This record gives sequence, structure tokens and C-alpha cells, in this order.
Amino acid sequence: MQVEKARELGLCFGVRRAVDMVRDAALRHGNLQTLGPIAHNKVLLQELAALGVETVDSVEQLRSPAVVISAHGVSPSVSRQLLARGLTVVDTTCPNVARAQHIVARLADEGFTIVIFGDSTHTEVRGLLGWAGEKGMSALGVPGLPELTRPGHRRKLAVISQTTQRLEEFTEFARELCSAVMEGTDELRVVNTLCDATVRRQAAAAELARRVDIMLVIGGRHSANTRRLAETCAAVVETHHVETAEEMDEGWFAGKQRAGLTAGASTPDSIVEEIASRLARR
Ligand code: SF4
Repeated sequence: MQVEKARELGLCFGVRRAVDMVRDAALRHGNLQTLGPIAHNKVLLQELAALGVETVDSVEQLRSPAVVISAHGVSPSVSRQLLARGLTVVDTTCPNVARAQHIVARLADEGFTIVIFGDSTHTEVRGLLGWAGEKGMSALGVPGLPELTRPGHRRKLAVISQTTQRLEEFTEFARELCSAVMEGTDELRVVNTLCDATVRRQAAAAELARRVDIMLVIGGRHSANTRRLAETCAAVVETHHVETAEEMDEGWFAGKQRAGLTAGASTPDSIVEEIASRLARR
């Protein structure tokens, strides 16, 4: 089997930076809790658990004196709760997410209603909604935004994206939204808050998918950017999303000669290498 990796794949600078910060903090503070998973990858989480890093789901569950904010960031109200409890906060919010948060806060100050193209259950989007105060809403499709037809919601409208969405889908969403609300809106602003590392990985995956017989997308099941990569590849060629080498099925590769590999932004290099070498030995 010929195996080719996408020209850009795997751990992004934001997750690398967050993991490095958590490792350093674990050495300095001993036991450490992270508010939500530091990355959506169970192998990475197991590695950090071995250093005494535990994940909790809510502020109420925090017991350690130091807490980590994940690369996805949190809302200002969660930050305030952490400081009010006197905790040492290790803030690993990715600079790309921090940029989106500041854009949302500025737009809210300027009186814009802010529409976030994204999954409203995702940590990053929940945080961004917090930065918008009363002025934010999120959806993955224009029909999911009936509030926009309410009077007073449409005079100044801004559209941004969850950082890990697909460029084509954000563009289409913004286009549809513009045509749905242009009449009766004084100002419409579209701000591109997509993460450049994500956009480059998606472009590299799509380019490789066109040249191979099968694509494997490696990464956590709950990783938003990995799922977007799988969708991108599946539109072009047979694609399988796996989290570990053990999930591969021999039957997928029957009659195939060229396999392409890509990996989500929280996938450790070791898993990519393991899968690449297993495939090359076939
Ligand atoms: S995918 Fe992009 S936004 Fe998310 S952590 Fe990585 S660099 Fe930051």
C-alpha cells in the first residue's frame, strides 16, 4: 500500500501550546484540573492524566487550587467565577479563539447582534456567546435563526464563525444570511474568524483526497475539526474516521493501492506515525 500524508496535518500550534502549558503547570502545581477536556483526543488525555491532570465538567466540580482553561476558551462569567474562588488559573485559550472572543466583545459594544456560525453545544461557541452578552446567537443554518425576524434584531448584524468550521460552509451561511436579512438591516458585517491552521489542513486534505483510493482521518470522535476534515474528504473519496490504529478494518483496503492520511488538530504525532507504518506494511 502506498501511503501519503496530507502536506499539513495533526497537532496545531494552539493545541501544542496548550499541552505544553499544562505539562509545565502540572510540574509546578502537582495535581491540576482542567475545565473540560484540554483536547478532544483520548490518547492525549491519558498522557496528561498520568501527570496528575484531571478533567472536570463544571466550576462546581473543581477541587484543586489550580485550574486550566482549555484552548477553546471560556466566557467572561466563567473566568470571573474562577477568580472569585481564588484559584490559580492557567489560561491556554488559543490565540485564534482569543481573537474571535475580542472581535465578538467589540461588535457587541458597537451595538451589533452577533450570529455565530457554529455548534451551540461546543465549548468554544458557548464561550463566544458569553462574550456577546445578550446580543449573541448561534446556528449551523439560517433556518435555525428565527429570532432574526424579531423587530430590533436586524439593524446592525454581524456574522462570525466558530474557528474550526469549513470555509465553504461559512461562506455559504454568510451568503444565505445576507440574502435573508438584507432588507430591513442597516449594517451587515461578516468577519472571518476561521482558524488558518484549520483552513490549511482542510485544503491539504481535499487536495490529497483527489489523488488516492481511500482516506483515513485520524482524531477524536468529539473533535470538531477532525469531523470537518472527514466531511471534506468524504465528499471526494471513500473516507474512514479512526481514533486509534486498532479501529482500522482490513476490508476497507481490499483492491486499493493508495491511501491518504490526515489528522485533526489534537491528534498526537505518535498515532499518525503508527497508522502510517501499519498501512505501509500491508
Ligand atoms: S484548531 Fe486552530 S483555533 Fe483550534 S486550537 Fe488549533 S490553532 Fe487554535
